[in-house]
Amino acid sequence: MSSNSEETKKEGKTKKCIICDAPAEYSIKGIPQTCYCRECALKQFKQLNYLEKL
Ligand SMILES: [Zn+2]
Repeated sequence: MSSNSEETKKEGKTKKCIICDAPAEYSIKGIPQTCYCRECALKQFKQLNYLEKL
């Protein structure tokens, strides 16, 4: 008699661009929570040196 209702599935695997909500491709180095899609990353930083590919 065990009632285990484990419905704690995490859907936070897919990161989203913090600007346009598109699927993120890059995050800031050292700050993985801050993600950008490629377009927004380039707009923000003009280059990808500060970014890490997800
Ligand atoms: Zn974006």
